[in-house]
Amino acid sequence: RAKETGRNTYQFYTNSLNALAPELLRLENDLHTALEHGELSIYYQPQLDLTKGKIHAIEALLRWHHPRQGLLYPKHFIDIAEENGLILAIGRWVLQQACRDCHAWQQQGLAGVGVAVNLSARQFLHMNLVEEVSQCLRDAHLAPELLTLEITETTAIHHVQRTQLILQELRALGVGITLDDFGTGYASLNYLKQFPITGLKIDRSFITDIEGDRQDQAIVKAIIDLAKSLEIPIVAEGVETWGQGQLLQHLGCKAIQGYLLTEPLPYSQVIHWSIPRMRLR
Ligand code: C2E
Ligand code: MG
Ligand code: MG
Ligand code: MG
Repeated sequence: RAKETGRNTYQFYTNSLNALAPELLRLENDLHTALEHGELSIYYQPQLDLTKGKIHAIEALLRWHHPRQGLLYPKHFIDIAEENGLILAIGRWVLQQACRDCHAWQQQGLAGVGVAVNLSARQFLHMNLVEEVSQCLRDAHLAPELLTLEITETTAIHHVQRTQLILQELRALGVGITLDDFGTGYASLNYLKQFPITGLKIDRSFITDIEGDRQDQAIVKAIIDLAKSLEIPIVAEGVETWGQGQLLQHLGCKAIQGYLLTEPLPYSQVIHWSIPRMRLR
């Protein structure tokens, strides 16, 4: 009987992971031990406050140093981790590590610079999120104001009320809540009204062609104006060129993140990194 259940469980995984190719199955298997083998790490990408010319926060981005395949990005394994539930353990680890790193960089020349951590839908609906976040803050001795959680619109689609409640509890702790990839989902505007959001990130897809595409330009301008009248701080993500940065600044965008500043860096490099010389004005 047990054997049968075991086989059924396995069957369930293979089905739900869409009859995976053998490499993907192997990856799924490897992911189970990635955390304990110390193969996961966090890269950090700064956000520049254009009005002050200073870094105001740094986003934590997960990486997997796979023993055979080398450096893997979230697109290679986050869906797998969501599917098999490992995202809960991995997400907890990211949160702990990011809070510790942020606490450490307060003393290493980055005082007042916060950390932004991405949360996926499954983590969000996990019962103990609020408790785990406050535990992480306490363990790392980090001021709640220095932590921001980035959620996407898909996080909340099916559980609006539950999401509202969790967000309110997180806000009560003092952490920030940013709506990531803004503009790509169908519920964007509704979410602004329903959730206690403290920040918005304009999705990279609107930034890429912003210099040549008048529609993208109009959309970005509308998002910036909307955020301004709602008094919600905004960050443009995926800014790669001076031209994009200049145009965004011209449109009233107050913060940017992207390869123009730097690619995401390992912690050891972040604390030695300095803002490249730019003339955005
Ligand atoms: P995101 O939160 O929207 O992160 C932005 C992504 O854009 C990152 O990809 C970043 O490396 C990339 N990026 C930044 N600047 C530029 C640029 O100028 N040009 C281009 N082309 N790309 C740029 P990454 O690190 O591969 O992460 C992809 C997504 O995976 C993230 O999107 C986020 O949704 C998710 N993710 C990353 N880390 C975590 C994590 O710890 N937990 C969870 N649940 N999701 C994560
Ligand atoms: Mg993000
Ligand atoms: Mg994003
Ligand atoms: Mg994204």
